Amino acid sequence: MDGTDTEAVKERVCATIDERSDDIISLAESVQAEPELGYKETKTAKKIADRFSEMDLEVETEAAVTGVRARAGGGDFVAAVLGELDALINSEHPLADPETGAVHACGHHAQLAHLVAVGYGFTDTDIIEDFDVALELMAVPAEEYLDLEYRRNLVDEGQIEFFGGKQELIKRGYFEDVDCAAMVHAANETPDREITTDFSTNGFVGKFITYEGKESHAGSAPEAGVNALNAATLGLNAIHTQRETFADEDHVRVHPVITKGGDGVNVVPADVRVESYVRAKDLDAITDANEKVNRALKSGAMAVGADVTIEDYPGYMPLRTNQTLVDHYNDNVRRVLGEDALVAERSHLTGSTDMGDLTQIVPGIHPWIGGFEGNVHARDFAVADAEMAYLLPAKATACTLIDVFADSEARAAIRSAKSEKRSRETYLTEARELRETLSGEYLDHPLK
Ligand SMILES: [Zn+2]
Repeated sequence: MDGTDTEAVKERVCATIDERSDDIISLAESVQAEPELGYKETKTAKKIADRFSEMDLEVETEAAVTGVRARAGGGDFVAAVLGELDALINSEHPLADPETGAVHACGHHAQLAHLVAVGYGFTDTDIIEDFDVALELMAVPAEEYLDLEYRRNLVDEGQIEFFGGKQELIKRGYFEDVDCAAMVHAANETPDREITTDFSTNGFVGKFITYEGKESHAGSAPEAGVNALNAATLGLNAIHTQRETFADEDHVRVHPVITKGGDGVNVVPADVRVESYVRAKDLDAITDANEKVNRALKSGAMAVGADVTIEDYPGYMPLRTNQTLVDHYNDNVRRVLGEDALVAERSHLTGSTDMGDLTQIVPGIHPWIGGFEGNVHARDFAVADAEMAYLLPAKATACTLIDVFADSEARAAIRSAKSEKRSRETYLTEARELRETLSGEYLDHPLK
């Protein structure tokens, strides 16, 4: 296929996405109206499965609990487009579900619009049949790392091993023949028409910490107790004393919260719970910071003679974008948004996503898209520009895939990049090494 033909194909796909705009936007709004948390996204999954069926594709549901996938085309080179099904919790948001507090304050409903729009672009036109390739459409569960007691139960029941949906899909082999993967994500406070493609992100380890002390009457006999809240407070302050040892270039972030501080104000707290992430730019930096944090947490228990149990779970791996995809995506962003579209310099961002895990084994991109006002995850987050939030990024993704499908050199470059990535087995070994339970047993009290 020569350049003129490629241009004509892009025109057809973009025109198709425009023709389908009402269908795409109504899907996004329907998903936004019924937000569901990770590994519970049954209504949302049904909505996506219905759209894939309408595209005449064979649909697999319940992929890693709630995921939905379908494949168009039967070629050997496989490009996956992903959209995340889950919402997050922010009860203060005006669109939050009154029962669960779930709300699409991270814009994942726009990712599903993007997913379905790309699907329409290739299947309404039969363009996928013009290339010897396959397009894998995947609605993936549970990107937000929250509601963790529920997920720990799923782990205990053997339903999942990982808290993140993409991690679980990787483990189950869903990406074995996938050559590259693309998705988009809402950007923070970016109501304008801009897209940022070229960046890396932090990875992290997730932590559950339990301090155990000894109850007693807080007024009449505090000396008979062991105060677990004091142990936790010391542990958290000891983490702060580590901060000067974190190198700037490692981008370390440690942000604990106390999820249970005690039972009643007149009882010396004996059971105090803390959760945290330890984030950094790569696995070595995460491990280094995490060892310091665990040492600090134990010191609080040691000081007051309490016990501490630290349960570490694999968080998400750092995101690494693929240069071939980034270059084509940026070209197509200019095509879709205009020649003067802002194309940001390469940067490192300190948040995390389980798309990071996928980009450890498969070349991928995860552009931040504009069209949203307010802060991601906050009560003021909202769609500011429906065409930008729901339609234009899908055109850029579809055009990028057409470039890759039509160009054997681009496909070869992506395959070569894939061969340099970790194998699934290495990835799983490294992720599992982050799972660890540590204890510090210092509670040696006469009343124990
Ligand atoms: Zn998100």
